[in-house]
Formats: sequence, structure tokens, C-alpha cells
Amino acid sequence: MASESDTATSNFIRSMIEKQAATTVATRFPPEPNGYLHLGHAKSICLNFGIAKEFNGWTNLRFDDTNPDKESEEYMQAIKRDVEWLGFNWKSLCYASDYFDDLYECAVALVKSGDAYVDSLSAEEIREYRGTLKQPGKESPYRNRNAEQSLELLEEMKAGKHNEGDHILRLKIDMASSNMNMRDPAIYRIKKSHHYRTGDKWSIYPLYDYTHCLSDAIEGITHSLCTLEFEDHRPLYEWVIEKVKASSVQVELGSPVQTEFGPLNLEYTVLSKRKLVELVQKGIVNGWDDPRMPTISGLRRRGFTPDSIREFCRRIGVTKSSAVIEMGVLETVVREELNESAQRRMAVLEPLKVIITSIADDHNEILELANHPNKPELGSRQLPFTREVYIEQSDFEEEPPPKFKRLIPGGEVRLRSSYVIRCDEVIKDENGQIIEIHCSHDPDTLGKKPEGRKVKGVIHWVPVEQSVKSEVRVYDRLFNRPDPLAEEDYLNAVNPDSLVVLSNARLEPSIGDAETGSKFQFERQGYFAIDDDSTAEHPVCNRTVGLRDTWS
Ligand code: ATP
Ligand code: MG
Repeated sequence: MASESDTATSNFIRSMIEKQAATTVATRFPPEPNGYLHLGHAKSICLNFGIAKEFNGWTNLRFDDTNPDKESEEYMQAIKRDVEWLGFNWKSLCYASDYFDDLYECAVALVKSGDAYVDSLSAEEIREYRGTLKQPGKESPYRNRNAEQSLELLEEMKAGKHNEGDHILRLKIDMASSNMNMRDPAIYRIKKSHHYRTGDKWSIYPLYDYTHCLSDAIEGITHSLCTLEFEDHRPLYEWVIEKVKASSVQVELGSPVQTEFGPLNLEYTVLSKRKLVELVQKGIVNGWDDPRMPTISGLRRRGFTPDSIREFCRRIGVTKSSAVIEMGVLETVVREELNESAQRRMAVLEPLKVIITSIADDHNEILELANHPNKPELGSRQLPFTREVYIEQSDFEEEPPPKFKRLIPGGEVRLRSSYVIRCDEVIKDENGQIIEIHCSHDPDTLGKKPEGRKVKGVIHWVPVEQSVKSEVRVYDRLFNRPDPLAEEDYLNAVNPDSLVVLSNARLEPSIGDAETGSKFQFERQGYFAIDDDSTAEHPVCNRTVGLRDTWS
């Protein structure tokens, strides 16, 4: 469960609220249901829910669902599940679409008060009239259309009597404003789309800047926290609430204040639903929960826990400016957590068969191995030591490089938690490929140092017969440059080798029936989680993270 320490590092918003001595802190997390949540959202969720909790306030989960073409029930359900999985509870589950009637009434009131008008310029003309950062815009010839005319048109737009693009409703602010957002922004457009909640009721839909501030005000949000790109929208946010409050409308509105914070940017990935949806739709990844994705569901499948994600958000803190976080920060957090909690197992990812000729065919010695080196409370498991075992191909070298401490012809190595073996013979096929290795063991080395010599190397192994065949998926960065968006098309920066499938891996028998989502440290390899694709006969393991940081 999320705790108060979730927001406990640097956080300028907390300092701001402390100074305000606010009586209530009411926040909201307002995703658009047009995709699955990603780590950037986790930052916003931890901030919004965390800060409200710290000040005994509350948080709404609100779906900003004003874009019917892109939104769906599936996305909405996935978002709810992810917020809950992260450990947060909302006060109310809200939908901007629940306010469509109120928002329409507010719009009517703004038309009546002369603060909004129906414009009938084409989209292209509107763009031209808008001006540029250097040039003021031009007023539309429809700007001074009288309120009755605008109202009549607005009613007709609502009734579906006009085509998309024929008219839009705009605020009447200032076409010469240096802030482009204040140049008579559109607040309603005609859209004849089916909405996943309101069905075909509406032919017009409100736009973000108009909907967001009023939704906040309707819900009684006090602190509307959003990312930096909305800084230039703040004057509009305030303008709309003020004008609607001054109008004749009967909708009760609070007084939310918008504050911006730096969005999370993470190296080697992209954090935007609009971009992530492309990776899914183009088949570059295997769905939203592909373990390479920076989505909450991808990270969950990869083996991250809610704690590790909240701890990540706590470590990066909340600042006014935007920063790029190294992937190593994320991996360190999960590595630290799993080092504490994950049981140890042995798994051979790319097996090489070893026959220990000094022991009998039917030798089946049961070794008792601790599940965690310094947590006896995690118990132990049994592992058979048999005449035939697998070791990792990379743990044997015929022509070893200098300082190679593992198995070499004529050399000795310890099989972890077991005996010391010596390589006597290398068996090859007619092409010179190694088929198996014949070794002999020193029976006096179980839990003991060998007499009169030092054996430095320790390698992992599993018994041939009792081990479980498994598929292991090893993930690398999804993009091959830290800043994929700097590429003209960020898809050109996709790393084609981000997934390596090892389909002959062998696991200790005690992992065979582990539940989906179970997490282990495979000794000497890293941390792994049992994937959703696993079956009773065929476990599939995802590498969450290696044992050491390989990013820097
Ligand atoms: P889209 O690409 O569709 O805009 P998005 O990824 O920006 O999607 P939104 O639904 O627009 O997601 O955002 C929901 C909330 O999450 C907003 O309050 C937004 O400010 C916040 N948010 C989005 N991205 C980040 C980020 N990278 N860091 C912190 N907060 C974020
Ligand atoms: Mg966005």
C-alpha cells in the first residue's frame, strides 16, 4: 500500500502548500483513456495522490474523455487497474463526459455574455488568421456575430445539423495576445463520432483547455498539478473559470489553481501514449504490456513491483524544471528491492552438458539449498545432484582468455553449493562442435575446500533430467539512443535487438510450478519474473534486470 513517504524527497509543491496553509488539498489524476499508463503517469499519480494524502486531502481519478475517436473502454479499464496496482485509492471516479451537459450550459452562458462566438471560417482560414509568434492574429469576420445568431448556430451544431469543420465555437479573448493560446481558442468542435460512454448523444465535443479547468472547478479540485507544457495555458485556464463564474450559469464551481511541474523524461524510451500506441499498432512490440514498454503494465510483467515504481518516483523527486533520468536509476531501484525479497535459484540459459564420470548412473543426491543467503526465514529448497548436469556454455573455454576462472580442459571449478569437478575430456562432433564434457568430481568437497589446492571459480548448474525446460526472454533497451525523439522519426531509433529469446534454458525443478509473476534471482544472471505466457509444462521467464548496472 502506498504510504506518506511516497512524496518524501525534493518536492517544491509540498513547500508551496505548506506556505499556503490550505485547509483542503484536493487533487486529481486526469488521463485521457487513449492508451495505457506509463512511468510519466506514475510520477503524476504519486505526486497527486501522495501530496493529497500527506495533507489529509483527497484525489479523484478523472478520465479526460473528450476525444471519442481515440478513446475506449479497454484503455479506461487498464488505467483503473494500473492506478490501483500502484497502491492508490481515488475518492471519486469521474469522467469529463459526465460534465458534457454542464459544459454545454457554460458555453451557452459564455455566448450570452459575449465571451464566445460561433466562427464559420474554414480550419485553414482559422490557421491563417491566427498569426504567428511574431505576428498578431487577425479577427475573424464572424467574431462580432450577435449572440442570438451564435446561439442558434450552436444549437444546430449540437443537434447535428452541420458537418464537421463547418463551424466551431471560440472564446472571444484577444487575437493580438502574445500568448497564442489566448487568440480566441476553440472550445467546441463538431464531431460525429460515437463516444464510448455517451454513445451518439453528442455531435459536438468540448476541447481540452475548456474542459479541463471546468472539470477541476466542478469537482472542487484545489491544486491542479500538470506538466510544464501547460504553463502557457494557465492564463486561459484562469480566464475560463473567471468568465464562467461571472456568467449567468447555474453550475457550482470551485477555485482550482494550476501549478506546473517538470515531466519525467527517461533515457532510451518515449513517454507519451500517442507515441507508445504507434509501437503497439505497428507491431514493433507485442502489445501494451510488452516487458520492453515503459508502461506500468509492461513494467509489471517485466517483474517490477508497485513499491519499486513508487520508490523510483520518490527518488527522482518533483521539480519545476524538466530533467532526463537515466535508465540506471529505474533499474537500481528494482534491483535493490529484489535483492532483498527474491528467492535464489539456479538456471542455465544456454546449456552445455557435463557428465560426471566418477559417479554412478543412478546417483541422486538431494542437496538442501537456502532460498536467500541472509534470510533464513525464506526457507530452503531441494536440488538433486546427478551424474549429468548442465552448465552455461560460456562457463567453459577450451582456449581461455587470461584470468578466466571457470572451467577449462584439465582445470577445476566448483559447481555452486555442490562439489568441485575437473574437466577430463571434451567430446566433439565431426564438425568440431562441443557436444558434452566429461568431468570427475572430488567427493570430499561438499561444503568443504579441496585439500592442498585452490579452486577459484564457482559456476551455476542444474541436473539434466530433473531440470525444467524453459524459455527465457532477455530484454535490452527499446531504443538505441538515449534521446529517440531527437531522431527525425523516432521509430528509426528502435533497437532491433531489444529482445533475445533463449528457448533451451533449464531451470531448477523447484521453479517449475511457480506462479505467474513470481520473482527470482537466477544466481550470477540477474532477476527474473515468471511471465503470463507460462504454462504448467513450459515456464517462460522475463529478465527484469541484470545483477549489475550495464547502462553507464
Ligand atoms: P498523450 O500522448 O495522449 O498526451 P500523455 O502520455 O501525455 O498522453 P495524458 O493523458 O495527456 O498522457 O496525461 C495524464 C496526466 O499525466 C496529465 O496530468 C499529465 O500532465 C501527466 N503526465 C503525462 N506524461 C507525463 C510525464 N512524462 N511526466 C509526468 N507527468 C506526466
Ligand atoms: Mg498529454
